[in-house]
Amino acid sequence: MSAAVAAPASAWASKTMRWAQLSLVEDDPAHFDINFWFDYFKRTRSDGVCLSGGGCVAFYPTQIPFHHRSAWLGDRDVLGELVAGCRKMGMAVLIRTDPHGTYDDAKAAHPDWIAVEANGQPRRHWASPEMWVTCALGPYNFEFMTDVHKEIMSRYRPEGIFMNRWDGSGDCYCVHCQENFKTASGLELPRTTDPRDPGRRAFLEWRRKRLVEVIDVWNREIRAINPESSIIPNNGSGAQSPLDAIETSRRAPLLTADRQARHQRRFLL
Ligand SMILES: [Zn+2]
Repeated sequence: MSAAVAAPASAWASKTMRWAQLSLVEDDPAHFDINFWFDYFKRTRSDGVCLSGGGCVAFYPTQIPFHHRSAWLGDRDVLGELVAGCRKMGMAVLIRTDPHGTYDDAKAAHPDWIAVEANGQPRRHWASPEMWVTCALGPYNFEFMTDVHKEIMSRYRPEGIFMNRWDGSGDCYCVHCQENFKTASGLELPRTTDPRDPGRRAFLEWRRKRLVEVIDVWNREIRAINPESSIIPNNGSGAQSPLDAIETSRRAPLLTADRQARHQRRFLL
């Protein structure tokens, strides 16, 4: 491993003793009480915080095309207000992004950003029918999310960017996955999930490498802006994780396992 991809010795990661996480839903900018949360962080003596920033929904006035601003954002910069308040309390700040879904306008302009089912159809979101599932291994993550991360790092200079649900949502048969897997292995994408199948094994290996590559792209770009910063890749999928856990852990000064459940659909995040 080259020094360029290794996690820097980040004092913020070892110094912070209690992390709080505030995940916003899309309409929170209109309803939530920001001072309640500042008080909560103070009362819980939290010295680090993870705040919703962008991806599916942007909570700041992003300039990146197709980066969907919360429809309740108005002319506010909710993320900026949160970061400023937490900084005033001396907290370390991670900003959370979630790239797993997008909307019709992005699909119309960039159909190749969308994950494709085995039957060749673009993949609708399982819980939010107005959204599309994105491909984790193609230009949506490698290019669009790189731009999002650079914008967030330039505007707010967080210690790190925590990526939720960044490693894909199952198998994808998009044009990029077909071409890139063929180039890497000489094979067509497998149509079986049987791990004894040589094509399936080659695919799992290729996907693991591709996910490490995208972490390296993001780290390189954000560290050009803030050398102490790191991508913190969510590691929450447990035993079924598609990640190379060793290579992933070498690239971040801390790891998290964010595994959520919700009983009632509100707004996706
Ligand atoms: Zn794909």
